[in-house]
Amino acid sequence: MNCKEAVEKLYFYLDGEVLTEEERRALEEHLNLCRACCQRYEFEKLLWNLVRQNGQRESVPQTLIMRIENVLARF
Ligand SMILES: [Zn+2]
Repeated sequence: MNCKEAVEKLYFYLDGEVLTEEERRALEEHLNLCRACCQRYEFEKLLWNLVRQNGQRESVPQTLIMRIENVLARF
């Protein structure tokens, strides 16, 4: 699996969409090996949780998103 595929599947993964066992395992394996995608995953997961708490993506404060991006940029 390359990064492009991993990122595409990431959203299904977070969304709880059913990936096949094989796809899920390949994605988790990629996240373990690839630092860029792992960070992406952590970031998206954080956003996802905020969205679910707040209901709408638009209600996530822009300042908070920027803060998360700053944290990730330091890695
Ligand atoms: Zn990757």
